[in-house]
This record gives sequence, C-alpha cells and structure tokens, in this order.
Amino acid sequence: MGNAKQYKIVKSDQEWQEELSAEQFRILRKKGTERPFTGEYDYFFDKGYYLCAGCGQKLFTSESKFDSGCGWPAFDREIEKGTVEYEEDFAFGMRRTEILCSNCGGHLGHVFDDGPTETGNRFCVNSASLKFEK
Ligand code: FE
Repeated sequence: MGNAKQYKIVKSDQEWQEELSAEQFRILRKKGTERPFTGEYDYFFDKGYYLCAGCGQKLFTSESKFDSGCGWPAFDREIEKGTVEYEEDFAFGMRRTEILCSNCGGHLGHVFDDGPTETGNRFCVNSASLKFEK
C-alpha cells in the first residue's frame, strides 16, 4: 500500500475476497492482525512448510519455528532470502518492520530483533497468512 512496487501476483480486492476467508482478507490484504493465542499455527509444530495463504509461495519451514510465547507463530528466518519483504511501519505510534510475501505483497506480520536463536530474529506471523503443507 502506498508504494508502486509491482508484485508477480496482482489481484483486485474483489478477486482476493472471492478466494480468501474474511479473516485472511482482512489480515493479508488490509494489514490486519489476528487476536493473540487464537491462530491455528500458534501451538503447532508438525514438520513441513508454511506457504503464503494468498499465493502459495513457500515462506518458512518447521525447522525455523519456535514457541515465542507471544501468541502468534514465530520463526527465526525465512526459507530463502527474498521470499519475505521488509517495510518500515510507523502505525500505532510504533516503529516496527512489517513483513510481506514477496510474490503477492500479502501482509504476514512483523519481524523483531529479540529472537532467541543465532539469527536474533523473531518473525511474528499471523496464522491466517499461512497455509501449512507436510
Ligand atoms: Fe503471497
């Protein structure tokens, strides 16, 4: 939003609304946030891949997932450099770094530098933005 970046996957709001649930649309396309401790992948540690719920791009693996206790799924890195995009976000009087799917521009969540592993990163992601695949 607000920048001219062209993503590979470009759809109108109406098209997205037809494909996504109301909650997914609100979060992925309108930068919403799910309520903490409510998402289906918060306490979920099966082995597999996490894909963008909007376009299917692989974003994270289960190996990078950890229990952050913050109420949302957390990962310490993206699956590969370039799959996640970063944007400065000054909403709500905070300075945060928003993370987006690089293929469709879908809002994923935010990344913080207080992660417990060697990367130091905590990718805090909405479950609604993800689709798990074994
Ligand atoms: Fe995507």
